[in-house]
Amino acid sequence: SQTGRTQGGPGSGKGTQCERIVKDYGLTHLSSGDLLRSEVESGSARGKRLKDIMERGELVSLDIVLELIRDAMTNNASSRGFLIDGFPRELEQGVRFEKEVAPCQFVLFFDVSEAVMQQRLLKRGETSGRVDDNEATIKKRFHTFQELTKPVIEHYRQQSKVVQIDASGSVDAVFGQVKSALESRGL
Ligand code: UDP
Ligand code: MG
Repeated sequence: SQTGRTQGGPGSGKGTQCERIVKDYGLTHLSSGDLLRSEVESGSARGKRLKDIMERGELVSLDIVLELIRDAMTNNASSRGFLIDGFPRELEQGVRFEKEVAPCQFVLFFDVSEAVMQQRLLKRGETSGRVDDNEATIKKRFHTFQELTKPVIEHYRQQSKVVQIDASGSVDAVFGQVKSALESRGL
């Protein structure tokens, strides 16, 4: 089955666009962040440790995330394809995933300035209840994105798998670009 990824900094609109994409293209949306948050919600001891890491804007160990995604894929084994959102967050995670689970066909990279992302996250923070939508954590998440996730995007760019999207506009404007990108790749 197809497996695509979305990438982009925190607040770049990955989750919003993924919802639109899966509606139109019949892919299964797997968000590593959402999977981690439901683990936190479960109230387990592991969930508590995950919450602390997320609150610091750091990355959860790749083994945990790999296992969560692998299980979610197994639970949706009949899907025509998977859109894995905000993953991999670091190079090693991507290499391990491709070797052990599934190769990546394309990466949609939602590109937008930190100023716009910060504004969106602070707005979302008014109602999201997320432990990481506050000014201090947002700064650290930007740092983590620059240091660890940007190299992942470069890695896939060298394999000509990256489609860069200008994510600064409205949801509809961004989705328009997404559609032509996916259609040009035969989806
Ligand atoms: N996270 C992680 N590994 C992942 C995905 C998420 O460690 O593969 C953690 C990390 O602490 C991150 C947080 O979960 O800052 C929120 O991730 P999410 O993808 O929801 O954030 P977004 O970038 O979409 O705002
Ligand atoms: Mg998200």
